[in-house]
Amino acid sequence: MEKLKHVISARQFKDPEFLLWLFESAHQMERDDVFRALTDPLRGRILATLFFEPSTRTRFSFEAAMQKLGGGVLTAENARANSSATKGETISDTIRVVSGYADAIAIRHYEPGTAEAAARISPVPIINAGDGVGEHPTQALADMYTIKKELGRLSGLRVALVGDLLNGRTIHSLLPLLSLYPGVTIDLISPWQLRLPLAYREYLMEKGVAFHEGEKLEGVIEEADVAYITRVQSERFASKDEYDVVKDVYVINAEIADRLKPDAIIMHALPRVNEISPEVDANARAAYFRQAKNGLYIRMALLKYLLA
Ligand code: ASP
Repeated sequence: MEKLKHVISARQFKDPEFLLWLFESAHQMERDDVFRALTDPLRGRILATLFFEPSTRTRFSFEAAMQKLGGGVLTAENARANSSATKGETISDTIRVVSGYADAIAIRHYEPGTAEAAARISPVPIINAGDGVGEHPTQALADMYTIKKELGRLSGLRVALVGDLLNGRTIHSLLPLLSLYPGVTIDLISPWQLRLPLAYREYLMEKGVAFHEGEKLEGVIEEADVAYITRVQSERFASKDEYDVVKDVYVINAEIADRLKPDAIIMHALPRVNEISPEVDANARAAYFRQAKNGLYIRMALLKYLLA
């Protein structure tokens, strides 16, 4: 695969061999971290995190990743209010300026396509850390790495994607990566209002991926190797009433979690609201906190790939 300069969409990752290499690199990062054996390959390099939407895991893990590799960070955690954006500066001017201070920019924005637009003018690598209802490619890399670590394989899996498939950008990025592996079957479980957009269904058809759509967990969750639960994205609804209709349609409680196959895993990009009860955390299938931790190592591997 041609060396990537920017990371904008999961669709840029077309080569399973590259993903395997990246996962091995992430695993090595984890081992080195545990044994306090990390070196400083990014010493003297700076990552700017320019976040126009809230974040905990993504921003912290990018910043921790950079610092663990010996680099530094410049951070705008509420750029909508605290950067020159409030003064009316355009994104492209902001990118032009910040790219003079930083060697890479991880950007999160409420407008789909912003990271791509930034990449067109940026002399330094742009990483899409979530663009509205668009994509969240580094989350999808963390998710695939998690599946590989937990289940030992990425082929032949039955994956249930549950919840807000309309607005959930982590799902939009996960689908192209799942599509790279043979024998993957995808169950799309959502209320009809939150159905996966047509463009993504067409993508799956184009790639010849077997998928089914439905509204019910019953009969699906029992067959899954991976049950990936998503938060209903309250911030994307036009009104609270519309959100209230769908907000708690799926709640994974201890009883439902136990209906999964013994070696299946439950994933969630977090934050969760009500969709997974805290009692599920004690279930060995609950992989979501491990998934969040894996985000650190995959971002370390990615930053090293882009910047070292
Ligand atoms: N943290 C993820 C995201 O930024 C998932 C979510 O917010 O529900 O997309």
